[in-house]
Amino acid sequence: MPVSVTIDEIKAAQARIARHVVRTPLRHAPSLSHNNSPVHLKLETRQTTGSFKLRGATNAVLSLETAPTRGATGVVTASTGNHGRAVAHAAKARGIRAVVCMSHLVPENKVEAVRSLGAEVRIVGHSQDDAQEEVDRLVAEENLAEIPPFDHPAVIAGQGTIGLEIIEDMPEVELVLVPLSGGGLAGGIAAAVKALRPRTKVVGISMARGAAMHASLLAGKPVQVEELPTLADSLGGGIGLANHYSFALCRDFLDEVVLLTEEEVATGIRHAFTAEGEIVEGAAGVGVAALLAGKVKPSGPTAVVVSGRNIDLGLHRRIVEQGVAA
Ligand SMILES: *Cc1c(COP(=O)(O)O)cnc(C)c1O
Repeated sequence: MPVSVTIDEIKAAQARIARHVVRTPLRHAPSLSHNNSPVHLKLETRQTTGSFKLRGATNAVLSLETAPTRGATGVVTASTGNHGRAVAHAAKARGIRAVVCMSHLVPENKVEAVRSLGAEVRIVGHSQDDAQEEVDRLVAEENLAEIPPFDHPAVIAGQGTIGLEIIEDMPEVELVLVPLSGGGLAGGIAAAVKALRPRTKVVGISMARGAAMHASLLAGKPVQVEELPTLADSLGGGIGLANHYSFALCRDFLDEVVLLTEEEVATGIRHAFTAEGEIVEGAAGVGVAALLAGKVKPSGPTAVVVSGRNIDLGLHRRIVEQGVAA
């Protein structure tokens, strides 16, 4: 069956982005390890902009010369979170224009965070759909290339470089745990890992509140789920009913998907800090949380992808001190 993102594309991405992103550490985590199952954390918390999203955004920006985006004068996205930051940073590094479209509902601190990275901000309408309409208009009228957050081959190949690094640093790895939302991260990593080590298991982890990829995999096609507030806010949102790449990769390459309660996500954030000294956002703590909850049981060397650190520090302190966020 044809695969939409190949190991060769992921290797090409690795060479393309090498000078622009941090090759993050894979650090032993004593508090999560057992005799035959050493657990290592792949720390994308140390990535520039605070999340792995810079890998895919950088690969997409550096790939702009190739069709069908040839000649684009800049890039545009509607993401206000980690992907928006990453696109802004990657465009600035390349010296091209970046526009981030957002609705009036986006809080001022997020607007400022994107502006401070050198991107133009367009504030339009009152929903994510309105922001996306402005993206579509800019693509059509101002010759900008859209860089979507997950469903794009260059973005997926960029995220897949994490899988290459895990195999390089830990060739004996038997289990890889990956946070799962739109599936660019998990799809890319699984494509790399399965190409190089077909018997290594790759498990996707989402919060139970609004797990769109999980529902879609069960349905056998992309479906919509209600979006609910969650501590793992970077995992919110749908996968797109017209999904082209990430759904198929997750369907073909993920061995399993595990869902977590909000309390389990909070426990992951707290444990990462108190036992391993890492500040992680909710989305990034889900691998640790799944191990602590016993929802994944390693039987060999294990790598846990810790995807980002962009959490409000007041919220982080409340979780560490009180357990579940009040
Ligand atoms: C975007 C993001 C994810 C999920 O990545 P997908 O490619 O959408 O599955 C996980 N963790 C963090 C910190 C993110 O920013």
